[in-house]
Amino acid sequence: MRKKSLVLAFILSLSMIGCNASTMSEVSSNQETIEEVQTENANLEEGTTTEDSEGHEEETLEVVSEEEEASEIVLMAVGDNLMHMGIVATGKQEDNSYNYDILFQGMEEYIKAADIRMINQETILGGNDLGFSGYPLFNSPTQVGDAIAKAGFNVVLHSSNHSADKGLDGLVNCENFWESNYPQITMVGIHEESNEEHPISILEVQGKKIAILNYTYSPNSEILPKSMMGRLDMLCNWNKENGQIDFTTLHPQVIRDIERAEEIADFTIVCPHWGTEYTTKPSTTQKEFALQMAEAGADLIVGTHPHVVQPVEWVEDSQGEKTLCYYSLGNYVSTQQNPLCMLEGMAWVTLTVTGEEIEIQEEKTGMLPMVCHYTASPVRFEKVYFLEDYSKELAAKHGILSYGGVELRMEDLEQWSEEIIGEWRLEKRGMSVNNSQ
Ligand SMILES: [Zn+2]
Repeated sequence: MRKKSLVLAFILSLSMIGCNASTMSEVSSNQETIEEVQTENANLEEGTTTEDSEGHEEETLEVVSEEEEASEIVLMAVGDNLMHMGIVATGKQEDNSYNYDILFQGMEEYIKAADIRMINQETILGGNDLGFSGYPLFNSPTQVGDAIAKAGFNVVLHSSNHSADKGLDGLVNCENFWESNYPQITMVGIHEESNEEHPISILEVQGKKIAILNYTYSPNSEILPKSMMGRLDMLCNWNKENGQIDFTTLHPQVIRDIERAEEIADFTIVCPHWGTEYTTKPSTTQKEFALQMAEAGADLIVGTHPHVVQPVEWVEDSQGEKTLCYYSLGNYVSTQQNPLCMLEGMAWVTLTVTGEEIEIQEEKTGMLPMVCHYTASPVRFEKVYFLEDYSKELAAKHGILSYGGVELRMEDLEQWSEEIIGEWRLEKRGMSVNNSQ
């Protein structure tokens, strides 16, 4: 089996100030910093053309083309942030306040190393006044959102089968939370206003427009409630008269959105919440939907929901164009009781930008396997580990043992990882992280 090792050289924000344009091509950092760099580059070009001779103009052009040749955009994504009550309780502090920074401990540098940083917020942040709840109708503290923002994510996916758990109030409160507190974060999948069609969400990275679309198969019902119509982005078609969901037909709006995105954006990412829970192989419907999305022009598909990792595959459309599809990243946090659900994936996608062209660079693209670790008696979240840092000793202490007759074994985690992720497995070892400045 071929295991890929990531070798990335990146310099975090502080060190970038004062750099010259020719080193910028090596830099992969957060969006705010990239905007700084763009401004700086613009100044540089302006300065040389207005103040100096023609000779300098040529030099500027050369620098720009050099930059084009080597430019990269990196995307990272993690799966379902599934806030069971044991995890909610983990964030309760001695003074009765809540803080969830612990969810991302140890992940910070891998989040900040990417330009597009996505998380699937499975459970609604429906407003703390409505009280916190776990399965089956979740309501998670808004402090989870604060931790997501603090960790550096810039895209939050909110269309899931739990988006409607607290009804219209929960959905609207959640939308308002992001809008009022973190307008710089691209929150997708739910909308305060009901509309047949919503504007396409665009993230600008290095001057390129990245469209992000997010849909769920259903809000855990066979009938789409009226309050969710036009507010929850739906993957499956539904009857406008009675709300009946047709689980085997892709909603035509998904195709229209991808086509609209293709007109205005340079790269289109579709994030479907789909598939069969606890199944490591994509379903026929997932495969059909992925092909339809690819035909419509999707460049990358990042799926969530099954609670387990599913494979990464190229989907080839009838024109021979290829779309990369992560069928499922699994959970990010949960206190589920199935050992298979403890194996999770971080998608890592490197895009090469050459002029107008954006291509997925397969050698630097794949999935980093991770393990969600929680304790028993009481069940409390402890840490998400990369599988390569996990150990037999930790597995032997995993809280899953408290459920009786369940074991988490290193060899199983390794075997599942090999079977499901296979050649797309990435190792963080070899990744060079320079954040000392
Ligand atoms: Zn789900």
